[in-house]
Amino acid sequence: MELIKSIPEMQKLAAQWSTSVGFVPTMGYLHHGHISLVQEAAKHHDTVVVSIFVNPTQFSPNEDLDTYPRNLERDLDLLRENNVTYVYFPSKKDMYPHDFKTWVNTEFITQILCGRSRPNHFRGVTTVLTKLLNIVRPDAMYMGEKDFQQLAVTRQMAQDLNFTTEIVGCPIVREPDGLAMSSRNSYLSAAGRENALCLYEAMQHAKASVENGITDFKTIRSEMRKIILAHNGVIDYIELVDSNSLHHLDVVRPGSRLLLAVKIEDTRLIDNIAL
Ligand code: AMP
Repeated sequence: MELIKSIPEMQKLAAQWSTSVGFVPTMGYLHHGHISLVQEAAKHHDTVVVSIFVNPTQFSPNEDLDTYPRNLERDLDLLRENNVTYVYFPSKKDMYPHDFKTWVNTEFITQILCGRSRPNHFRGVTTVLTKLLNIVRPDAMYMGEKDFQQLAVTRQMAQDLNFTTEIVGCPIVREPDGLAMSSRNSYLSAAGRENALCLYEAMQHAKASVENGITDFKTIRSEMRKIILAHNGVIDYIELVDSNSLHHLDVVRPGSRLLLAVKIEDTRLIDNIAL
């Protein structure tokens, strides 16, 4: 496994790819959710590139950019164990030099759900992914359904801007008790970790309701609210959308996706489930 830090060095490699290349962009502090993407990429490609970059432009000034967990040595060990070919670890100043002026912005679907409380978040995501795709030039990019809106936004961007890289979505990896794995789970206290389970509990309750014939989303949401509030969760949103268009739905139907964002202690957690 080779660690690449400079843009020209990565671009030089990318200009000469002779095998098919799978790419997994991450912000590091890796867990099994990330590794599942690496393993999926390795099934389909001879070369696997993983980037580690805590992208400053997707954080608002009041968010956790400075405290975002980092542990490069541990990440590299994990990636080595998983037969990754190249780790790309660019610096902030190379990615965003002082005269940086260009943004990639996907409209509409970036303004709903997480976009409401994180106004410039997706602009940061689409911009950094565009840069990474131009630098790494992979055949396919592997992303988690954990960030369901991010995946939808990326697919839209790739379609609109004629990227030739295939965008591959991979299922959510959970802790044994159901909590979706996330680097941000490390912020939670022991009590917070217990309370964080309410997202999964609320989603399971919704799933059971649908199995019992309840399809009105208002009814489902009010039950979910009760579960989350009982665990001191502060709800940002609980929404039902069409999984492709992300259009709001009032009634559960095939292709519906339930998404939620909840603050536990000071940590904003997101999760989602197909209904
Ligand atoms: P991050 O490092 O949080 O930016 O995540 C990098 C990639 O890993 C994104 O495509 C995420 O959707 C994906 N990912 C994060 N957590 C999980 C998880 N629990 N299961 C599956 N994919 C995940």
